[in-house]
Amino acid sequence: MTEAWGPDDDEPRPHSGPVRVRVPSKVNLHLGVGPLRADGYHELNTVYHAIGIFDEITARHGDTLTLTMEGEGTGELALDETNLIMRAARALAARARVPAYARLHLRKSIPLAGGLAGGSADAAATLVACDMLWGLGMSREDLAEVGAELGSDVPFMLFGGTALGTGHGETVSPILARPTTWHWVVAIADGGLSTPAVYRELDSLRAGSWPPPALGSADQLMAALRQRDAEVLGAVLGNDLQPAALTLRPQLGEVLKAGHDAGAITGIVSGSGPTCVFLAADAGHAQRVAAGLEAAGVCRAVVTARGPQPGARVI
Ligand code: ATP
Repeated sequence: MTEAWGPDDDEPRPHSGPVRVRVPSKVNLHLGVGPLRADGYHELNTVYHAIGIFDEITARHGDTLTLTMEGEGTGELALDETNLIMRAARALAARARVPAYARLHLRKSIPLAGGLAGGSADAAATLVACDMLWGLGMSREDLAEVGAELGSDVPFMLFGGTALGTGHGETVSPILARPTTWHWVVAIADGGLSTPAVYRELDSLRAGSWPPPALGSADQLMAALRQRDAEVLGAVLGNDLQPAALTLRPQLGEVLKAGHDAGAITGIVSGSGPTCVFLAADAGHAQRVAAGLEAAGVCRAVVTARGPQPGARVI
């Protein structure tokens, strides 16, 4: 008896396309920064939290690799091989030993160089989109390995949720807490801040301090998350990069004050800034804080967002 040869039904197959992937942005609820390591990275201990400001990547088949973009800040973003989207597609193709052929399109809402990991989010979305388009069937863990080479935040943007980040942020472990929705008000600044410049500023603020800065643990933050109370969480939000971002962009002090005056539970600089995020008790409170912040006229735009959100996923 002969058996018909055909693709195994469990085998991933190329998708006819288009594949659309939505990816959230992130804030760091806790960002502990250790001393500069010999490899040029800082040791981090951070709690990532994915929030609902989204970018979208669409992938179609093509006979070369191309990228088009629309939306927030894309006029300032190079379309060439330095773009993290191109780098992600090429890295995945090299890993899977397939040709990097795709037509990619980015719809961007995450502010550029805003401390919300927009570039890493786009890289993560590209990995998920091309994996499906090319029928690679790679696991999130495998994609995260490819992503870690592209940027420290890329693995988290693949998983989303709320997670502990260690190493230089690329090692991610989910935080298992009962599901709670947190309400955020996001103050978007005019212009970005360069992440390397903010780390350099932190190093110079710390220069000569003795004993050397210790890496603050995220234990208190994780205990607060489990209590599911916004006041408790607000009391322990913290970001070691905040003093450096404030030195480089003193106006952020006014933004933080305006959020406080608008009744936010607390506010912090998101990652390397200049975006500031404010915690609210519920959706109505977030709307009121957003209105107050807008009226203060201290930032370019104000949006509300909920977290946690799932990582990059096909829609
Ligand atoms: P992080 O919080 O991860 O430090 P960020 O949110 O401050 O990052 P990004 O928007 O991720 O900043 O961009 C940082 C820089 O990365 C940009 O100024 C740009 O030069 C480069 N970049 C390359 N590709 C992209 C992309 N697809 N989207 C955004 N930035 C990109």
